[in-house]
Formats: sequence, structure tokens, C-alpha cells
Amino acid sequence: MKRVYLSLGTNAGDREALLARALERLAAAGLRLLRVSSVYETEPLDRRDQPWFLNLVVEAETDLFPRMLLMRLQRIEFELGRRRLTPKGPRTMDIDILLYGDAVIRLPELTVPHPRMTERRFVLEPLAELVPELRYPLDGRPIRELLEATRGQKLRRCDLRLPVPL
Ligand code: ADP
Ligand code: MG
Repeated sequence: MKRVYLSLGTNAGDREALLARALERLAAAGLRLLRVSSVYETEPLDRRDQPWFLNLVVEAETDLFPRMLLMRLQRIEFELGRRRLTPKGPRTMDIDILLYGDAVIRLPELTVPHPRMTERRFVLEPLAELVPELRYPLDGRPIRELLEATRGQKLRRCDLRLPVPL
């Protein structure tokens, strides 16, 4: 079993329902969900002319190997209506692998730790909520320090807390 952290994001459709459905599908796809962070509403970073996102981070355990895990995540994105039309544009569901145990993976289709996680408050804030003592595996920097550098990115924690599906 590997401990993994996944980032979920959505800014098109019924965002709250999409997050709940994604969690259910993850639980049915060979992952044991342990904890789910609060939901955060976050401003889009790359293309600003699109709706705000809802984001959260999931902590889970799995026996799936990294590439199989990525395939399952992409299938769930597709089933939830994701079509890659505009790069960086609105999406019903984006699921990224942030951390896979302490593995460092550099494949054409998969980079872990996720290469942009250290620059994104919408990842760091929910991740720090679950694992405040975390250090970025590649250079040992504490997550608090990484968060400090992303303070300029707008985000608010929602009241909403999604249940962890069995
Ligand atoms: P993004 O998540 O960067 O907004 P996409 O979801 O369209 O964009 O992902 C583009 C590609 O990123 C995917 O086809 C996938 O192969 C690749 N990728 C590389 N590393 C990861 C990772 N850690 N988690 C998820 N996808 C990844
Ligand atoms: Mg993605």
C-alpha cells in the first residue's frame, strides 16, 4: 500500500456535486480514501477569464501502480464530462497526483511530485491542512514556507465539508 495525495479541481458545472461524485468514483476505483480536506474556492491562475475553482486534496492508500492510477484518474475525469478543449480552460474535473509515497517519477506522461504543486496555493493550503508537517520531498522545504510564497493568490475556505465515501 502506498500513501498518495491527490488534488481535485473543478470550475464548470455543478462544482460541489462534481467533487462529491469524483470522491465516490475514487473510492470505487481501487483507492482507500482516508481523509478529505476542506473545500476551497480559488481564483484561476493561468487564464483569468474563467470562473473560480473549487479545490480540495484527498489522502488515500492504494495498491495501484502510478501509471495505472493515472489512467484511472483520467477515466474518472472523462466520465465526469471532462473534454480537453481549451488548454488551461474551464474543466468539470481535474485530478492530479501530488505525491505517491516518497516516489520520484519522471515519465513522459507522469511527473511526481507534481511539478507545479509548490507554486499553487490551491494545492498547498488544503494539503497543509491535512499534513502540516509535510516537507516537499525534492528539497525538504517545509510546506509552511512554500505557502508563505503563494500568499498573493486569492482563495477562501468554504463552509462545505464533503464526507469521505467508504
Ligand atoms: P493540468 O492538470 O496541468 O491543468 P491536464 O489535467 O490536462 O492539465 O494534464 C495534462 C497531462 O499532465 C496529463 O495528460 C498527464 O499525463 C500529465 N501529468 C504529468 N504529471 C501528472 C501528475 N502528477 N498528475 C496528473 N497528471 C500528470
Ligand atoms: Mg490534470
